[in-house]
Amino acid sequence: MIQSSKFTILLALALFFSFCDTPQSSTETATEVEAPASPTTKKAEYAIVIHGGAGTILKKNMTDEKEAAYNEALNAALDIGEKVLQEGGTSGDAVVQTIMYLENSPLFNAGKGAVFNNAGKNEMDASYMDGATRNAGAVGGVTIVKNPILAARAVMEKSEHVMLTGAGAEQFAKEQGIETVDPQYFFTQDRWDALQKAKASEDQSTGMKLEDNDFKYGTVGCVALDKYGNITAGTSTGGMTNKRYNRIGDSPIIGAGTYANNETCGVSCTGHGEFFIRYAVAYDVSAMMEYLGLTVDVAAKAVVNKKLVDVGGSGGLIALDHLGNVSMPFNTEGMYRGYAKPGERVVKIYKD
Ligand code: ASP
Repeated sequence: MIQSSKFTILLALALFFSFCDTPQSSTETATEVEAPASPTTKKAEYAIVIHGGAGTILKKNMTDEKEAAYNEALNAALDIGEKVLQEGGTSGDAVVQTIMYLENSPLFNAGKGAVFNNAGKNEMDASYMDGATRNAGAVGGVTIVKNPILAARAVMEKSEHVMLTGAGAEQFAKEQGIETVDPQYFFTQDRWDALQKAKASEDQSTGMKLEDNDFKYGTVGCVALDKYGNITAGTSTGGMTNKRYNRIGDSPIIGAGTYANNETCGVSCTGHGEFFIRYAVAYDVSAMMEYLGLTVDVAAKAVVNKKLVDVGGSGGLIALDHLGNVSMPFNTEGMYRGYAKPGERVVKIYKD
């Protein structure tokens, strides 16, 4: 036990110094300068950060109308969460209401607008974590729950479990009075066309050509800090286009796609889920803050722009610390993202 904690501390120090020692490392070269250079030390009254997925989002492939629609949706989502927080609501309510809005929008790969699996069905995953208690809930592979984030929160609040999947999760949602819909509700032509395109070029051995990620991402996530100092994080997704075998990604996995701890930060991820699971990405950001004393921005960028880049894991994340400092790094072409704090609002799509 003592041996292993000694090893951990040594490893942490080694890691810390390795970041310090490489001024031209990919952490720095790939770093996006978006968050304030020096983090605030005074707690913001509230803060909220969202993402709508990362991927090959290029301005040259975007029409003005589409870009305006995404900006409008991201702003509307922030409006909803910010209002809850301004009125003294909890970070949990802010996260759920914001994510429900994004789930109901056909623009994003969550709820209505979720991607199709290989069988032409929508299978959705969601998770929710409370940074005050570190309680959490998640659902995987649900097909009839209109707002999977509601089911994830209910798993935390109304069951003894952390994660429910498939038919059992749907039965639980129904028993909790959560709205269910005909699967047809989730259909969107764009996602259907993306499935046909994916199938036409698929790798027959797995049914997924994972490196070809431009039409697969679009997951949504939200992290909020309320007036009471509590952080909540949530993530919701349709997963990856053309997925098979009831594949589940990182989004409903606590520690991989979502994590929250009032002492450190809240995190919601988006990207190639298999990498985010294997590298425990959301928890890693929190752990680097806890063990190495890094700021949220340094920790988040080290994970996304160094650790993930080194192994070929594409995607990004949003993170928010207990003071309201925000980080939104991604190693793809773009990420739908934004944040709001008193007197401050940022919404972005591309690298800049
Ligand atoms: N991370 C999600 C998954 O692998 C996909 C995404 O973020 O778009 O299921």
